[in-house]
Amino acid sequence: MTRSSRRCLHRVSDEGSSAAFTLSSVPIRILLVGVGTASTFVIVKTMIEIIHHQNQAYELPFETLISDSLDEVRNLLPNLPASIQIYFSDYGILEDTGIGGYAYSSDIITISLDPNFDNKGKQEASIRPTVFHESFHLSQRFTGEDGPFSAIDNALYEGMATVFEREYAGVFEPYGDYRQTSEEKLKQWTEELRKLSAEVFANEEVYSKWKFYHPELKERWIAYRTGTWLVDEVLKKKGLTILDLRTKKAADVLSMYDK
Ligand SMILES: [Zn+2]
Repeated sequence: MTRSSRRCLHRVSDEGSSAAFTLSSVPIRILLVGVGTASTFVIVKTMIEIIHHQNQAYELPFETLISDSLDEVRNLLPNLPASIQIYFSDYGILEDTGIGGYAYSSDIITISLDPNFDNKGKQEASIRPTVFHESFHLSQRFTGEDGPFSAIDNALYEGMATVFEREYAGVFEPYGDYRQTSEEKLKQWTEELRKLSAEVFANEEVYSKWKFYHPELKERWIAYRTGTWLVDEVLKKKGLTILDLRTKKAADVLSMYDK
């Protein structure tokens, strides 16, 4: 991974303390410690470091929004690393939002922005939900450097991130929206996904078929829709919220579904 375009962005603007930092290379964990009130508080702010640009001029105006979204999501996902790196790419851009996200590693999020996307307002509004979704993957260690994951684990981790995004960023992504899919089909897909081991699912063709488009079944996003449905079923059955699943493994969620 090239690190030629390394920049840092950090702001401390609220909680009574204000400072701006320009940093060149070292990730810094910022702690603000307040005393003199009833309780002592420690606030960890997210520092983002841009490790790669795809189109710097286009991406620059989005960086504050990304940083703000990370600050916000950290309150919900306290185990996120203090410093998160952003790698701008052109991978996996969704055609209805002009943005793509990928949890590359425990502290790197890949974000792809289509510079030719018509609806700039929609693209901008999609930053926060995308950051929320990818941050959930980071916090669960469902990233490119973890795994490999079986198809059903993959579906469940995607389901959890999609429900989290829906509940906390207010967007029910079309790829996870199973409301037009019959329960019979979702149950059938669950069984199909359970048969695909991590080894089999590592095959690009198999992966892409179940995750993005299955040409024989003529269905899109099977793993996302099935996983989101499974997670909602578990939450309903157990009376839990998505934050209760934050520290759970996909296998734990699957056994909750089975019981
Ligand atoms: Zn995802």
